[in-house]
Amino acid sequence: MKAVYVAEPHSLEIREMPMPKPGEGEALVRVRAGGICGSDMHIYHGTNPLAKYPRIIGHEFSGEIESLGPGVQGFSIGDRVAVDPVTSCGTCYACSIGRSNVCENLEVFGVHRHGGFAEYVALPVKNLHKIPSSWSFEKGSLVEPFTIAANVLSRTECSGADRLLIMGAGPIGQVILQAARRLGTACAVADIVDVRLEKARRLGAEVTVNTKDDSLEEAMGKWTGGKGIPLIIDAVGIPDLFPVFLRMASPAGRIGLLGFSKAPSELVQLEVVKKELSIYGSRLNRNKFPEVISWFEDGSVEPELLVSHRYPFEKIREAMEFIQDNPSEVCKVILEF
Ligand code: MN
Repeated sequence: MKAVYVAEPHSLEIREMPMPKPGEGEALVRVRAGGICGSDMHIYHGTNPLAKYPRIIGHEFSGEIESLGPGVQGFSIGDRVAVDPVTSCGTCYACSIGRSNVCENLEVFGVHRHGGFAEYVALPVKNLHKIPSSWSFEKGSLVEPFTIAANVLSRTECSGADRLLIMGAGPIGQVILQAARRLGTACAVADIVDVRLEKARRLGAEVTVNTKDDSLEEAMGKWTGGKGIPLIIDAVGIPDLFPVFLRMASPAGRIGLLGFSKAPSELVQLEVVKKELSIYGSRLNRNKFPEVISWFEDGSVEPELLVSHRYPFEKIREAMEFIQDNPSEVCKVILEF
């Protein structure tokens, strides 16, 4: 079987690999669709500080069950599944208080162990979530990015009564916007690409700001009548923006962070204490697959709107180059297997 193999940073090839065998409690999944994420690009370029090499990348994927290992119940050959890429040990401090997505021994498919950009992958069935046979595999591969939104909105306790500023209108900004709009939250979105902001307005953003042309702080002052923003979620990850968030947040405001930058941000303690701000990191997802699958089922979000391009998986390098060269045209790129 063929797999997308990153031997080391800057070396990506389609490699012929031995067929994986499902062990105890595992299923062999025939992968059919996989979304390319910024973090896949970072693993390829050696800029993901968490990745281990060599690696079959890919953590946003779906497929159908080809065969079952010993001891598996509740799954059948032919079932369509979306894959939760997060595994945890169940015994460390974080796991013991129910925070398994920041497990001390966390392993993510496609980052710390082999992932889904392969024709076949053997996976523990506890990471598999059945999806309706009426769904496309592409739709199944979009569950994972929406779980990122579900996680940060639950971490920050976003409600329909909130006013939310989403920094960034790329794929993650857009899934957060869709997930917040299904709650009825009033949303503003900032980005530097007009096409993305147009899309954000179509997805229900009340206000959009192109921060290349306009002052974000002025626009947000106007939006909130000078009261400050109760909830800010950063889907950009530029460390320099953090002091701006502290200034723009309302008293008792919350800030959700998703970026992976190792560069420090400036933190003015006075802003945090004076307003009693809460700052939340949000990593991956914690058991959010069932919830997101129910959103897809009841039609309260539109995952299809995320997809901009499709490539056969053998052309992943071409797909990645296209993503890099065309930021204003590209949203989610799906690989077909
Ligand atoms: Mn991702």
